[in-house]
Amino acid sequence: MDNKLKINNIRGQFPILKKKIYKNNLIYFDNASSNQKPQSVINKIKEYYENFNSNVHRGIHYLSEKSTNALENTRESIKKIISSKKINEIIFTSGTTESINLIASAYGEKYIKKNDEIIISQMEHHANIVPWQILCRKKSAILKVVPIKKNGEINIDIFKKILNIRTKIVSVVYISNTLGVINPIKKIIKESHLKKAIVIIDGAQAVAHTEINVQKLNCDFFIFSSNKIYGPTGIGILYGKRKILKKMPIYKSGGEMIEKVNTKRTTYNNLPYKFETGTPNIANIIAFQESINFIIKIGIQNIEYYEKKLLNYLSNKIFNIKKVKNIGESNKKINIFSFIIKNIHHLDICILLDSKGIAVRTGHHCTQPLIKKFKINGVVRISLSIYNTYKEIDKFIEIINKI
Ligand code: PMP
Repeated sequence: MDNKLKINNIRGQFPILKKKIYKNNLIYFDNASSNQKPQSVINKIKEYYENFNSNVHRGIHYLSEKSTNALENTRESIKKIISSKKINEIIFTSGTTESINLIASAYGEKYIKKNDEIIISQMEHHANIVPWQILCRKKSAILKVVPIKKNGEINIDIFKKILNIRTKIVSVVYISNTLGVINPIKKIIKESHLKKAIVIIDGAQAVAHTEINVQKLNCDFFIFSSNKIYGPTGIGILYGKRKILKKMPIYKSGGEMIEKVNTKRTTYNNLPYKFETGTPNIANIIAFQESINFIIKIGIQNIEYYEKKLLNYLSNKIFNIKKVKNIGESNKKINIFSFIIKNIHHLDICILLDSKGIAVRTGHHCTQPLIKKFKINGVVRISLSIYNTYKEIDKFIEIINKI
């Protein structure tokens, strides 16, 4: 199938891939942080400012209608790619981080009481830890953490033991941004619902790499960021079940989120606008639709298939290098591989790779509890994308071998 994908045509759509870094061809393996943008996305931002720049929702003039329609079309496309039931279940935020803060503040304020329990896992991004710590402190609730196993997988047996009728929220990552391990979220959602807990899935690392169907998953919330799926920075998406969002109190207040304001009392707007305060990130949201079109054109199954093949190729080669230690050995992964090299600091590896034009990320990846579990202070993370090639992996392996 990867021959059919015509990777060179795909690469040709990404102007940045033609860049030379210190006279080397750029090899971009930092996709989990932010992946690159196709020309269509870049063009759309320019097109917006040149041809229909105008604020949305509040105007009835030509430009405002055009930008409003374009922004709402993106919402419609998001609804389609994650298969949500209703368009008003899709809320624009500034990122996955803000989406979690929104839920922790608004849902947490109304529904979390003293001694209630919230479950997260040991592999969460800080964005899915800190807001829950703050909420628990405020409400005298209890934060429980599911440990992970040596191979990087979540310990489902312990999860089942921790889960109980006092559990009100379970918030877990779908694909770990540090290890790449895929969590059994269907099982987690089913078990949690049996105890009447709501489930939030941090899908930041999932949407660009595997098919998402929020109705089939039956999660209560699903959150992700545009910049990890070929889209612009500064946009987050919060999917929530309509019946939950409707009853949830507001998060931020001001313009857009209102229905009527008088100096004594305010009534609030309908979904999704009730949670969208002020002027949104219009140009970038509009351009985000092009990112979704990019994925749809290739086909998410084709992307998943190719990225898995790349990852297997990389794993097989790197396993042959003696001093390399893979962190999180589970094979339930799509596109991320993390490692350390005995007696060499991860930062030094990164600097050396950078000098050859290879972009990787090192450190704790905003998952300090996870890194601590492995008794290390950081890993080198390779995160692959649809435009990466076997040849790039060969070049990377050649350098690692030299190191
Ligand atoms: N969760 C995961 C799994 C992530 O990978 C990231 C970004 N690295 C975040 C949350 C935070 O996303 P953002 O910075 O876009 O808010």
